Amino acid sequence: MTAIGFIGLGNMGAPMAANLIKAGHHVTGYDLVPAAVAALAAQGGRAAASAAEAVAAADIVITMLPAGPQVREVYLGNGGVLGRARKDALLIDCSTIDVDTARAVAAAAHEAGFDMVDAPVSGGTAGAAAATLTFMVGGEAAAFARARPVLEAMGRTIIHTGPAGNGQAVKICNNMLLAISMIGTCEALTLGQKLGLAPQTLFDVVSKSTGQCWALTGYCPVPGPVPSSPANRDYAAGFTAAMMLKDLRLSQQAAGAVAAPTPMGAAAAAFYQLLVDGGSGALDFSAIYRFIAKSETKI
Ligand code: NAD
Repeated sequence: MTAIGFIGLGNMGAPMAANLIKAGHHVTGYDLVPAAVAALAAQGGRAAASAAEAVAAADIVITMLPAGPQVREVYLGNGGVLGRARKDALLIDCSTIDVDTARAVAAAAHEAGFDMVDAPVSGGTAGAAAATLTFMVGGEAAAFARARPVLEAMGRTIIHTGPAGNGQAVKICNNMLLAISMIGTCEALTLGQKLGLAPQTLFDVVSKSTGQCWALTGYCPVPGPVPSSPANRDYAAGFTAAMMLKDLRLSQQAAGAVAAPTPMGAAAAAFYQLLVDGGSGALDFSAIYRFIAKSETKI
């Protein structure tokens, strides 16, 4: 039984915190959105009125925030985690952020005497709800060993990827591949339908063929074949197109820094930029299907 301070109770953080409560941990949560904090309290957690209050008594602090600026603010800002948590607390940032921010915040945490890991996740909101997330963890081996038991309450695959920031490095590679495979899946589904095939027939064959990928079999962007996919709820997120664009920018920024050739990643970033600029940033990232298929006049 561990006292956990959880900051960021959005699409991912809320179900992750709920699973920690189910596993018997004492979770005190904070989010800028009061309804998110109230929802945690309704599930047996404790509501905090600030990040400082959420972490004051915590053995472990977990954050699940949108991007690097929020992570910097929550850890390094006035009334932030480094100033308010107990010095023996373990800090775990599960957000997807840029490698440089992850390394800078981890260095500041070590300087202040804390153990910290970056532990971004894969598996989406369904994986968060089912406690089947994959965690890719960057940090020292001893900090990883401390983090592992609590991560196991939220996920199924927990992998130590090396020093601080390495979790984020894996994550942006994964999401660049996911965006590319989602766009490819949408192109194949569009072409097949224009050739007269039903989406279910395409799904049945391709999901058992060499074109198989998670974007198709786990998150099919056309309604029907995968009941849990956002396509069946008018592309309500899920994982928003704006978040995917953020991750694609992170991978492009990283690719530029190390001169890695990523032309498909660059094309994927341009596709998502168009989707977001068209006003669909709050939809699930699989809504790129509408953009490619032009099945809707308004995307
Ligand atoms: P979200 O926008 O639903 O949730 C983020 C939450 O953080 C919001 O509730 C927001 O109010 C809160 N927040 C922002 N700034 C805050 C602050 N200063 N103090 C307290 N709370 C603050 O986003 P999400 O979909 O839950 O994603 C969170 C992170 O997980 C992102 O980095 C995203 O890239 C990553 N991720 C998301 C998914 C997914 O499928 N949604 C999958 C894997 C990884």
